[in-house]
Amino acid sequence: MKKKLLLQMDCDPQASVFDAVVAHDAGVDALFQQSGVAPADVRNQVYGLMFTRGGDDLKNSAAFIGGSDVVLGEAMLKAAKESFFGNVRVSVMLDSNGCNTTAAAAVAKLCGGDGLKGRKCVVLAGTGPVGKRAAGLMAMEGADVVLTSRRMDRVEEACAEVNARFDVNISGAEVGDEAQAQAVLEGAYAVLCAGAAGIQLLGSDTWTANPTLLRLGDINAVPPLGIEGTKAHFDGEDVDGKLVYGALGIGNLKMKVHRECIKRLFMRNDMVFDAEEVYAVAKEMI
Ligand code: NAP
Repeated sequence: MKKKLLLQMDCDPQASVFDAVVAHDAGVDALFQQSGVAPADVRNQVYGLMFTRGGDDLKNSAAFIGGSDVVLGEAMLKAAKESFFGNVRVSVMLDSNGCNTTAAAAVAKLCGGDGLKGRKCVVLAGTGPVGKRAAGLMAMEGADVVLTSRRMDRVEEACAEVNARFDVNISGAEVGDEAQAQAVLEGAYAVLCAGAAGIQLLGSDTWTANPTLLRLGDINAVPPLGIEGTKAHFDGEDVDGKLVYGALGIGNLKMKVHRECIKRLFMRNDMVFDAEEVYAVAKEMI
């Protein structure tokens, strides 16, 4: 049995230790961490994997693309896929900044039960890597998605990016204070707070008084939390009929999904794990 080899291509000056630990915990035998990788470097890196093993053994070599820049990560994934030909290829996963695994876990949690189809869902401070992925996945579930930012130009840019990437039609709103948050949540069924660490986005008076809001998620684990009056460990906590998922509740599923996707990379040599595929794993695991 050949050893399971994972090539970790990271665009940052120092490759992510987090991603390395998950790779080891997922059973990888040897990890090749490459830092400062640019899209133009990817082909040669991938060739190193593709041309050293053949036939069925190729499934024991795989690639992981990480780093803090999702746009670069997407370009690296494209370059990796363009390096393959015929069955001479390896499985590859993209999770820059944890964008796919975190968004997949959050949306899978919020989607539980009756689903999101036809329902208004709001991604507060959704212009970051996780928020944009989550908005796309919610829209794929048939939700009527509104993504917010403090700045309208950032809203427009993010919505255009999500709509093009996922072939959906989300809309945006400028939200910079509690009154605007209250207004955008009118008639909403679910909200995901996707803001930067340590930023409160939703006051307790706003969400507890909203009669239609029944699912709440927050991926910020750093106090103050994104949703006032909640706890990071909430994992479907029932607060007066509203189910609340905190960052640790979501993060627990995220970790399981991340490890599972790495394991699955070694089942075949032709898998690509991007947002949709990672989300499918999250829905299976929930
Ligand atoms: P990010 O890019 O750091 O931030 C998302 C958005 O937050 C920004 O685009 C910005 O939007 C908004 N923001 C920044 N400062 C703000 C402020 N002072 N007030 C209001 N809004 C502000 O986010 P990310 O990398 O996608 O990560 C999102 C969250 O997920 C973070 O809290 C991160 O720590 C967490 N995370 C959690 C897990 C987990 O497993 N639980 C995993 C990965 C990441 P605008 O400038 O457009 O308004």
